[in-house]
Amino acid sequence: MTPASVGELREAVRRAAADGLRVKAVGTGHSFTAAAATDGVLIRPQALRGITAVDRTAGTVTVAAGTVLKDLNVALAREGLSLTNMGDIMEQTVAGATSTGTHGTGRDSASIAAQIRALELVTADGRLLTCSEKENPEVFAAARLGIGALGIVTSVTFAVEPLFFLTAREEPMGFDRVTAEFDEHVAENEHFEFYWFPHTGNCNTKRNNRSQGPAAPPGPVSAWVEDELLSNGLFQAVNSLGRAVPAAIPSIARVASRALSARTYTDIPYKVFTSPRRVRFVEMEYALPREHVVGALRELKALVDRSDLRISFPVEVRTAPADDITLSTASGRETAYIAVHMYKGTPYQAYFTAAERIFTAHEGRPHWGKVHTRDAEYFARVYPRFGEFTALRDRLDPDRLFGNDYLRRVLGA
Ligand SMILES: Cc1cc2nc3c(=O)[nH]c(=O)nc-3n(C[C@H](O)[C@H](O)[C@H](O)COP(=O)(O)OP(=O)(O)OC[C@H]3O[C@@H](n4cnc5c(N)ncnc54)[C@H](O)[C@@H]3O)c2cc1C
Repeated sequence: MTPASVGELREAVRRAAADGLRVKAVGTGHSFTAAAATDGVLIRPQALRGITAVDRTAGTVTVAAGTVLKDLNVALAREGLSLTNMGDIMEQTVAGATSTGTHGTGRDSASIAAQIRALELVTADGRLLTCSEKENPEVFAAARLGIGALGIVTSVTFAVEPLFFLTAREEPMGFDRVTAEFDEHVAENEHFEFYWFPHTGNCNTKRNNRSQGPAAPPGPVSAWVEDELLSNGLFQAVNSLGRAVPAAIPSIARVASRALSARTYTDIPYKVFTSPRRVRFVEMEYALPREHVVGALRELKALVDRSDLRISFPVEVRTAPADDITLSTASGRETAYIAVHMYKGTPYQAYFTAAERIFTAHEGRPHWGKVHTRDAEYFARVYPRFGEFTALRDRLDPDRLFGNDYLRRVLGA
């Protein structure tokens, strides 16, 4: 169902509880896990959209939970405002993105959920609960990243700041150099990330730092060549060829990884952070203690080099500062992420299983919305505050109105 108001949503929750049905909210379905699946009532977000309040003194914006991030970014820019940090795409809803811990890369600024200052959620008894650092702080600690387990988020208040410019520097760099200099690159840049191309020693680095502007986006030809032809059109063709002839992948990778060239451009944040991703893929991403990431990546490279795996998709490495959200992948520790991808339609199990073995040996925490095989027992070990979350869940949703198979696996019964 698609509730037209919070009142209708509360009524739907009450009715489902009375009928013995379970309830699940969905965003735009961009998760690679079945986090939003249900055998009961599915709540669609389409009618709960838009900015509802702007408080320039407090530096906050309140937005309906079903708002798509792209619409939020555009509306904020119109107000001369911006989020501080965000992920690679902006097709997700506010609630869907934050509920799984969607993040970009940052030295000082963390995930989208960490930018939340207050939120409202409909709990299993149909109540509308408001939480912030001051009001229901124990709910706020967990519900910013609730994996849909604590209730249905209806409204989110974000910290925002006056619109600013970011200058991006994209630059190819060798694997040995990036890994040797990783700590320096992270320390010297507000947002550092890189992609490593399996079967090669080549990486592409991206550094985003604040600047005075003015906007100097890539020229139309460069933008088309880099963002459409190489990152989408040609990349699609390369992946299709690789799927048909896996043995050709290493040679293709060596050529393709050299095709991107260095470039510098400046624009408002969302235009620098996000880009279209039209080539379909499956993804696993783990958050590791920051100091483990280079070692883990070298292990991954050694694994690919000695195996007969054929990987046509780059591996992405990003960072986040420690945050204070109970089940955030960066909860309580300086973090770096390694994401492995496979082109949609190619078998990914062997690669992901081998990669996951490396990540879990480093106490990795998987992204809640991406492929992984971990369960509650594992999470209780890698999240010191896991019990705090499950105790809150027991209090707010004792009958598991918001439960599904995914939550049973990751949180326990
Ligand atoms: C092409 C692509 C690029 C991506 N890039 C990144 C990236 O750069 N960084 C990153 O971290 N992730 C990334 N992701 C993962 C993505 O951000 C997450 O999976 C995100 O959860 C998807 O949001 P959604 O709106 O589609 O939510 P869904 O996938 O529909 O739902 C996700 C979860 O949120 C819950 N939920 C949704 N709405 C509500 C609500 N109102 N109240 C309570 N719970 C709710 C659902 O029940 C479910 O548990 C990417 C995914 C894709 C496909």
